[in-house]
Amino acid sequence: MRVSDDTIVALASAAGPAGVAVVRVSGQNVPDIAEAILGRIPQARQAHLAAFLDVDGQAIDHGLALYFPAPNSFTGEHVLELQGHGSPVLIDLLLTRLMACGARMARPGEFSERAFLNDKLTLDQAEAIADAIAAGSVVTARAAVRSLEGVFAREIDALVAELVALRVYTEGAIDFPDEEGVDFLGDGAIKTRLDALRQRLSHLQAGATQGAGFRDGLRVVIIGQPNVGKSSLLNRLAQRDTAIVTAMAGTTRDVLSERLSLGGLPLTVVDTAGLRDTDDLVEAEGVRRARAELASADHVLLVTDAARSLNTAEQALLADIPVETGVTLLANKIDLAEQEAGSYTETWHGHTVSGVALSALDGRGFEHLAARLKAVAGVSAEGEPPFVARRRHLDALARAAAALARGDERLMIDEAGELLAEELRLAQTALGEITGKVSSDDLLGAIFSSFCIGK
Ligand code: GDP
Repeated sequence: MRVSDDTIVALASAAGPAGVAVVRVSGQNVPDIAEAILGRIPQARQAHLAAFLDVDGQAIDHGLALYFPAPNSFTGEHVLELQGHGSPVLIDLLLTRLMACGARMARPGEFSERAFLNDKLTLDQAEAIADAIAAGSVVTARAAVRSLEGVFAREIDALVAELVALRVYTEGAIDFPDEEGVDFLGDGAIKTRLDALRQRLSHLQAGATQGAGFRDGLRVVIIGQPNVGKSSLLNRLAQRDTAIVTAMAGTTRDVLSERLSLGGLPLTVVDTAGLRDTDDLVEAEGVRRARAELASADHVLLVTDAARSLNTAEQALLADIPVETGVTLLANKIDLAEQEAGSYTETWHGHTVSGVALSALDGRGFEHLAARLKAVAGVSAEGEPPFVARRRHLDALARAAAALARGDERLMIDEAGELLAEELRLAQTALGEITGKVSSDDLLGAIFSSFCIGK
């Protein structure tokens, strides 16, 4: 276990008034701090009702104290958890008192960082905690919990174990090329194992792609002419299988974007109509902001009327969308036009534009919209992701796959065992970055600093 010489403290629950607030302390000084604040060291892993004492022996608050001696704690260090009343003023007094006892405020992610450094978590598991907290849908949260349970890390470890075994075998074949007349390199055994490894890695890549798509979701901007049904679409989306509907700015009247999920895919939906409505005094500013939203969108939904073809204003909107941003036409109000729900394509200025015919009023066609947005996000419509993943994981998997592909060539074309062995080593290094078996301080700093304080 790596010993940190200082003791950290933070509010682990959300800031602001609440029924209960949890303050977490971790480090070597925890027993001394417990003596000072509680008058004794509580029994390990038992909840004690206690007074949290100030320097003069007066109670700052009463609450539950839980003591987890090292190494059996979240961080692997001595940990004290104080569950007091969720009063910002009392919490401030308690934090001040804990700091006077020798703890310092934790940096964002520092508890998880210590857990990682003390081998309590792999790096991807630590990231999964942050992903579970920030999850934009039930599907994403469940995938993050599976990562936290070690599903991804175990897959990586199993792959690394096979890689190491193949490295040993290959190096043996190099050292003893014709041992007892057996041609190790040429007998096909290495090729068979390499193929199996590549297949397993490719399966893992597919799972990680799903996991990353469901983690990142899409930022979608809704545009369209007045009265085509943009607000109705947003309302309908907000009702469907959503765990979270958060107004991200201002009051209901000037809501600019909402987080919701469709078929488990987290979406941040920006309503440009809202932008224009609230800014009608400064229309030019509204248009400028709408353009900026279009430029930062992953995808645009252009709502139109199913009863007619695109009018000139809509064609102008289509032309406004930056070429690198994809667009889906939504032919709305099919209930009035008595049309079938479903996907269609339309040719516009030589481009094929995808569309979905739906009804924001009765919800028909929304499963096609979900399938379309999942395709845009690069995830398959069926099934849940096996675990949550990040871009950095995809990148490491891709580098491992490239190394194995090169190794395959070295084996099959050059029959060069030592070059294959080197590629196997590179693949192992890339995979090790995911779980943190191989990591640099820069990488760790970048990952943990994006966590919230108290995690
Ligand atoms: P916006 O101006 O684009 O935001 O359009 P609204 O969402 O306010 O909708 C304009 C009108 O069209 C309202 O009266 C809605 O009830 C109606 N509307 C929206 N979607 C549909 C639909 O799918 N079917 C029918 N029949 N009416 C709809």
